[in-house]
Amino acid sequence: MTYEVACRKCGATLYSGFELRSPEDILRVSEYRCKRCGVKLTAQRFDVHIRKLDGTFT
Ligand SMILES: [Zn+2]
Repeated sequence: MTYEVACRKCGATLYSGFELRSPEDILRVSEYRCKRCGVKLTAQRFDVHIRKLDGTFT
């Protein structure tokens, strides 16, 4: 199972991996900005968008 956290504005993937991490951790790594569209992200206002990507497990 893969978790993906995406920018709400442009849909760029900010984090994807097997571990569910807190918004704070994810945003810190990307310096609180979206790498693609540059929108400023804060943990408080950031709605984590988690996609459980369908893998081989059902
Ligand atoms: Zn973006």
